[in-house]
Amino acid sequence: MNEVADATRFAELWSSLADVGRDRVTGGYRRFAWTSADLACRDWFASQAADRGLTVEIDRNGNQWAWWLPESGALGAAANADERRNALAIGSHLDSVPDGGAFDGPLGVISALAAVDLLRARDWRPQRPIVIANFADEEGARFGIACAGSRLLTGQLDAAKARALRDGDGVRLADAMESAGQDPDALGRDDERLASISEFVELHIEQGRGLIDQDAPVGVASSIWPHGRWRFDFAGEANHAGTTALDDRRDPMLTYANTVLSARKKARLGGALATFGKVSVEPNGTNAIPSRVSAWLDSRAPDEAALDAVVEQISEAARERGARDGTTVEVVNESRTAIVEFDHGLRDKIRKTLTDVFGPVPQLPTGAGHDAGILAAELPTAMLFVRNPSGLSHTPAEHAEAADCLTGVAALAEVVAQLAGAQPGKNRGSGA
Ligand SMILES: [Zn+2]
Repeated sequence: MNEVADATRFAELWSSLADVGRDRVTGGYRRFAWTSADLACRDWFASQAADRGLTVEIDRNGNQWAWWLPESGALGAAANADERRNALAIGSHLDSVPDGGAFDGPLGVISALAAVDLLRARDWRPQRPIVIANFADEEGARFGIACAGSRLLTGQLDAAKARALRDGDGVRLADAMESAGQDPDALGRDDERLASISEFVELHIEQGRGLIDQDAPVGVASSIWPHGRWRFDFAGEANHAGTTALDDRRDPMLTYANTVLSARKKARLGGALATFGKVSVEPNGTNAIPSRVSAWLDSRAPDEAALDAVVEQISEAARERGARDGTTVEVVNESRTAIVEFDHGLRDKIRKTLTDVFGPVPQLPTGAGHDAGILAAELPTAMLFVRNPSGLSHTPAEHAEAADCLTGVAALAEVVAQLAGAQPGKNRGSGA
């Protein structure tokens, strides 16, 4: 069962989506939820599924599902809810961040379609339903909440709150969805849908350098680091840039600047990550010492204690510096996401399956959030990562080599064959 996917076929599938929502100048993608580019991606998904005889549904929260049902021989005859029990879900998302890369999301969806093709080419038939998901609004680029489709599905995002979210132009999520033909009143936790899925395996491009360092094309996720956002409010005294002696200043920009440097140092020492990527200044004048600086810290760490420690150390360093600068510092936690440990049983089963076929498969944590991380609270989930030779993500430079993509497809097909193949005790059949 270890032949690889057809390279030409994969390349054709890849190029059929490549131009959708692509900025001609930067080469990056702008596939924001419920915009025309996103709708074109969703149409593409529906037509690819239809080409394969898969039955496409859109759930109450806008996620697309393409079903391959057992016993239908030809793929995907109409079936009632009973036939959709105990499904194995695969897939990912098609939306992007501003100027995103081609692989974050689409690699998982395209690999899922290609894995179905590969299994069909082997005359393999599922013993239980397989469903390919295209999760809506994973990046949160337009309405500000990442994984909105899976969070709504699981109830982790309140439906009323979601409906009221607005994009940068003031358009409400409810109106954007309605324009796209979705009923915003239907949003909310979907118990029936969740009950039909037994496992979810998401293939995704790696967004760091773990697989480069381990010289492996494919890896398995162990966990998603806990992470959060903290607002630091630095308050001082506005004054004239030309007439105020340095010793007389209470400059919150100075405290902020030192805090950025401290954050870098504390994160490095603590094996964590800390980023100040957003800042607002009052009054924001070139010739005025600021009265106030607000800055947002994004921090992530391998475990909860390490995250608590690094944020506390950065806060302490900010307050100490503030005391020297005559400024005050207030730290407010705006959001926090606990560590996601992927299901150990599923992860170990996948790792063993892949190791038997491909040799040692590394296991690695990630600092990025994913739909698989959201669904992990409801059902066993796992992730496969495909090597990213640039180590870059959320930029047009994000990349994966074709050979590694094909290995990813073969690995996903192997996992599907193992999880949704012959019942225990039966032979897997003619797949060799
Ligand atoms: Zn993604």
